Amino acid sequence: TAYGFREVAKGEKQELVNTVFHRVAERYDVMNDLMSAGLHRLWKDAMVSWLSPAKRPGYRTLDVAGGTGDIAFRIVEASRRNAHVTVLDINGSMLQVGAERAGKLGLSDNLAFVEANAEELPFEDNSFDAYTIAFGIRNVPRINRALSEAFRVLKPGGRFLCLEFSEVEMPILDKVYEAWSFHAIPRIGQAVTGDGEPYRYLVESIRKFPNQENFAAMIRDAGFSRVTWRNYSGGIATVHSGWKI
Ligand code: SAM
Repeated sequence: TAYGFREVAKGEKQELVNTVFHRVAERYDVMNDLMSAGLHRLWKDAMVSWLSPAKRPGYRTLDVAGGTGDIAFRIVEASRRNAHVTVLDINGSMLQVGAERAGKLGLSDNLAFVEANAEELPFEDNSFDAYTIAFGIRNVPRINRALSEAFRVLKPGGRFLCLEFSEVEMPILDKVYEAWSFHAIPRIGQAVTGDGEPYRYLVESIRKFPNQENFAAMIRDAGFSRVTWRNYSGGIATVHSGWKI
């Protein structure tokens, strides 16, 4: 495609993604820590501090592919429990784990959980101040649709932030990272969930995802302005930012 990555059969892809997350929902949080060596926590903190919800009381965020709630909980805490976050995910098992965690943390009043597809958001135009998506957009079959939907549901002046794996831009780190993702991650998956195959797919999907610049172009194509990004850990993860103006 124009963006330099091959698109796989759409229906097949979503089905595979759904199977993976249904299977791992209960162990998803521990898997994240193991597979990123704890780094996902720092990257998520970085995204939420870039959003700065603390400065904006009553802020309404939609966290798409929100899974077990990691981003949503951080936003609510950073806002000193002023903000409201709608956690949207296609997978009920992930949301259920998230809703239970929210109850235990006493955050249920600030959160709503919605089972839906990022490609077809069940919200009216101009509904949210911010749209966040962390390690989710890579799994969505039609990324351009998800981006257009993000633009549609944001209010004018609204903020788009996306955390995703990206292109490693440090010469030695890229080799270490490749070895880690192709060898260690499927093995960890095998050990913890009994099946390494889905993790091979997930690693492959990281490789196919557009690099920083190409993804920025896609975000601009969806209508966003002032699109920028910040790399973390040498580009293993990147946060892209854009504005609906
Ligand atoms: N954002 C959470 C985090 O960072 O911990 C969860 C990320 S998890 C790697 C990816 C999530 O994307 C899964 O919960 C999966 O169900 C969800 N997902 C996959 N395809 C989706 C779609 N088309 N629409 C909404 N969510 C989707």
